[in-house]
Amino acid sequence: MHLTSETVESLVEQLSKLPPIGRKTAQRLAAFILKMPREEVVEIAKAMVAAKDRVKTCSVCFNVTDLDPCPVCSSERRDKSVICVVEEPSDVMALERTGEFRGLYHVLGGVISPLDGIGPDDLHISELIARVAQTSSRTAVAEPTEGYDGRGADLESEDAPVQEVILAMNPNVEGDTTAYYVGQMLAPFGVTVSRIARGLPIGGDLEFADEATLSRALEGRAGM
Ligand code: ZN
Repeated sequence: MHLTSETVESLVEQLSKLPPIGRKTAQRLAAFILKMPREEVVEIAKAMVAAKDRVKTCSVCFNVTDLDPCPVCSSERRDKSVICVVEEPSDVMALERTGEFRGLYHVLGGVISPLDGIGPDDLHISELIARVAQTSSRTAVAEPTEGYDGRGADLESEDAPVQEVILAMNPNVEGDTTAYYVGQMLAPFGVTVSRIARGLPIGGDLEFADEATLSRALEGRAGM
């Protein structure tokens, strides 16, 4: 199908670069944009350019943010004893939508995938280990006692040490491999490591799970 406007054609071309949007959807969007008031179109365009220009990566958790550190990392009201590890910033958005999780995040920036040439060093795994090591060195975790469950440490202190790391990678081969690897790397630090899975469809994407399913998966996390 040929479009009569080169400008529209170029808009469709641009919109169809966005991964979930095929040419058909892009054409529908372009038609819709043409009917919208100019101001609204300008707002959309501005939002796109602003996102590109202003959004940066949090130097602590690697989530996308306007401020560094991000509002989650710098919030006094978040539970600093729990870190939820996810693949992408969109997973943080999905988990925040549930309103269930009050801890901190760590965005890996992908998963271990040898077929795509992505190894542990290509992800923010060492930074996660450093975050956990940094706080656990302030407590008596250096000498874990028998049956230490990672919960005995000083919860009242402002610099609450990390006590639990929740691995929230997607339930597929790469997600499982990455979770296993990160779990092994965290083993020496005496923190509780758990994995969310239950309730999430196998092979499904965290990002697209509904809030109730995600909340259940978070509650039903299992130890590793
Ligand atoms: Zn952050």
